[in-house]
Amino acid sequence: MGSNEQRIEHDLFSGAALSMTDSSPGMDGVLACHDCDLLHHIKHVPAGGKALCSRCGSLLYRHHPDGLTRVLALNLAALICIVLVNVFPFLSMEIAGRVEETVFISGMLSLYQLGMGELALLVLLTSLLFPLLGILGMLYVLLPVRFGFRLPGLVPVYRLVRIVTPWCMLDVLMLSVLLAAVKLLDLAHVVPGIALYAFIALVVLEAAAYASFDRALLWPPTPPDCADKGGTAADAELISCHTCALLVPASTLSRTGRAHCPRCNTPLHQRKLNSLNRTWALIISALLLLIPANVYPVMTVIRFGQGEPSTIAAGIEHLIEEGMWPLGMIVFVASIIVPFMKLAALSLLQISVQKRSGWRMRDRTVLYRLTELVGSWSMVDIFLIALLTGLVKLDALTTITPDIGALFFAGVVVTTIFAANSFDPRLIWDHGERRQ
Ligand SMILES: [Zn+2]
Ligand SMILES: [Zn+2]
Repeated sequence: MGSNEQRIEHDLFSGAALSMTDSSPGMDGVLACHDCDLLHHIKHVPAGGKALCSRCGSLLYRHHPDGLTRVLALNLAALICIVLVNVFPFLSMEIAGRVEETVFISGMLSLYQLGMGELALLVLLTSLLFPLLGILGMLYVLLPVRFGFRLPGLVPVYRLVRIVTPWCMLDVLMLSVLLAAVKLLDLAHVVPGIALYAFIALVVLEAAAYASFDRALLWPPTPPDCADKGGTAADAELISCHTCALLVPASTLSRTGRAHCPRCNTPLHQRKLNSLNRTWALIISALLLLIPANVYPVMTVIRFGQGEPSTIAAGIEHLIEEGMWPLGMIVFVASIIVPFMKLAALSLLQISVQKRSGWRMRDRTVLYRLTELVGSWSMVDIFLIALLTGLVKLDALTTITPDIGALFFAGVVVTTIFAANSFDPRLIWDHGERRQ
């Protein structure tokens, strides 16, 4: 942990709270950790630093001087890159003097033409539409704030950005592009186009923009006098708004158990609704989808008139036989290890919460965060199939077509991401603390 990361104490009244960002007014306040619900007094963090939860280690907030200008600049640059990615050629392939140019959406178009519309849509959403929506949404929300006003619909737009964020998979696509280029090297001479360089810049800019944003740019934290008991927000009978992080007294919850945040009008819940049941339903669905995903072939490669449909396991075996074992290992980890580990980890978390276990609560929270983080990397294989389908249309000598197994596998990836999102890590601490 770097020296500029400062752990903040969770007792609410130790020392005076300092302002968090020099440029933002009214930063004195409290907030609840979104992973364990513990209340924290906001304190000064050095420039570029971040504050972590003293109990579970989750990120609470960051301090970037000129955070607003920085996030805006990064998003504007990302917008320019996303335009370049779609205007210029992406990759060119040269085989026996013939050059075939492909554009960014070639893979999606080929999938659609081959009758894999659902797969084409998933690739289009996760690699283009959601990242674009995220960038435009952030600009819509933050650009007027820079000039001192707010546009109507700020809250719905911001909520939409938060919903699409886990589905933006530019970094995963980046890895797939690299793997596709390696795989095609023995077939043809691969020449990167302008769009590929713009795409690499886009991946870096998007990650930097995401890391620089802090919710306090839009909404100041709750005033400190609203939480005078300490402990968790639930102990203090407060509910943390999922959108603007305002701490609202639980007494405002109506008898139906639903109320709205007075600041941003988001529905308030003490914990995610039906978290355990929904997560189990999604885990079981993912397990069922894993069977056809591994039994049915995911892709057919025909070279010089030879070749047959291959499953995920056969594809990996083939890559290793061909001497491309690093590529084979990456596909093995992303397509087999990650989905199984993710489902095993989520099941373990669910069972431990149901048993009201107080066992290694901090480690279990870290496990949950890891599960959330690695989930999208299973898309590597889907992107790889889309890229290869789009790129390899040189002649009748070699064709690559997707098969039904790829659709089931995409279903596994989507279901496990939903499963991780529906689990509420605060349940780990609720039951565990009471037990202790
Ligand atoms: Zn925490
Ligand atoms: Zn709110």
